[in-house]
Amino acid sequence: SNDALLAQQAERESNARTYPRHLPLAIAEAGGVTVTDMDGNEYYDCLAGAGTLALGHNHPAPTEAMTRVLDDERAIHTLDITAPAKERFVDTLLSSLPDEFAENAKVQFCSPAGTDAVEAALKLVKAATGNRSILGFQGAYHGMTAGALSLLGDAETKDVPGVLADVHHLPFPDDYRPPFGVGGDDGHRLASTYVENLLADPKSGITDPAGVILEPVQGEGGANPAPDAWLREIRRITREHDVPLVLDEVQTGLGRTGETYAFEHAGIVPDVLVLSKAIGGGLPLSVVVYDDALDEWGPGAHAGTFRGNQLAMAAGDATIDYVLENDLDAHAAEMGARLRDHLEGVAHLDAVGDVRGRGLMLGVEFVDPDAPWPGAGPHAPDGDLAAAVQAACFERGLIVELGGRESATARFLPPLVVTREQVDDIAAIFVDAVRDAVA
Ligand code: PMP
Repeated sequence: SNDALLAQQAERESNARTYPRHLPLAIAEAGGVTVTDMDGNEYYDCLAGAGTLALGHNHPAPTEAMTRVLDDERAIHTLDITAPAKERFVDTLLSSLPDEFAENAKVQFCSPAGTDAVEAALKLVKAATGNRSILGFQGAYHGMTAGALSLLGDAETKDVPGVLADVHHLPFPDDYRPPFGVGGDDGHRLASTYVENLLADPKSGITDPAGVILEPVQGEGGANPAPDAWLREIRRITREHDVPLVLDEVQTGLGRTGETYAFEHAGIVPDVLVLSKAIGGGLPLSVVVYDDALDEWGPGAHAGTFRGNQLAMAAGDATIDYVLENDLDAHAAEMGARLRDHLEGVAHLDAVGDVRGRGLMLGVEFVDPDAPWPGAGPHAPDGDLAAAVQAACFERGLIVELGGRESATARFLPPLVVTREQVDDIAAIFVDAVRDAVA
């Protein structure tokens, strides 16, 4: 039963475990957009491996591709020694990227999680520029290894001794809690002007960073999209100052935001692109793809036993292919707009501060209408209410994750294959759960 497995896990696993506390189920089986627990309850899964399962659970495309490798090629772990599965993956990955970027791109396989690829990207730009400081952003999430952790825009979570000192956090545009107190285009302009001033001012001490790193839509930060115009400005400024721009598309990559890659919305290309999650088709796989001009690395400069796994490459190859062939980016845009329309249905409630996101990466932030927030504007985030909403969703058969400040934002990351009917169902459950939790 669920209870037996949950109790056993609580006894044996680290106190740091998170999901079982908020989502008390043990998964017996899963398929498409749903999971079924040991007691036979079915849930819509809007967590979907933290945005990993673009095609949902157990999709035949990656599953059959893995079976072919097992049956025919029988090479499932060759480090990063050349194997057909790897060459197929690289071909498909490069074909998914805009020509302007892919033409001069180099691919480096990384130890398989997103955080490892972030570390590789930091190392790469430091080696290429000879500089050491990194500019990151408030609200950012890039992973839990030391370098990635130091980029975290949450001072409490990263409060462990020894994180990198040479990281500067800059204001990320946010229309709900504008960093300069001004929303919209004016606010975005202030946020980019701030970066430009820092890079231009010899007194700032950060005129020569090794790189600027950001998520085109902050995921764990609460589904907060970077405005296109701001991103274009950051691209212009980093070019003019010759600073590599690293885009972390670990969560946004492969169709989730309504374009294959989120940077395409802004019509820019990065110098370094960090990818993981969806590109492995549900298995651990991560890469950095970067401009040839940064390729200062010598042989062996970036090693790691698990950089090569042919099963993950086959699953990833099949998943990327499926997303491209079926225009799942456009589908995500359409389903995302539909889900968002439904979610806007709770926006009038005093306890709902903001509904935001892009494509199928959406968030609803809960606030305490009686608690002030420093400065003008919104109220304080209400993590307790968000947790109550999450629990009410769960009772009704819907899994949503929390993120953002105080974990007060309910986050939606359903598989990209979600249908109209499923979107309508998911939204109806959520709206009902919100009414119940707020009452
Ligand atoms: N970058 C971003 C934008 C992410 O969302 C995450 C994971 N949520 C990571 C990096 C870290 O990836 P992993 O958990 O695979 O280490």
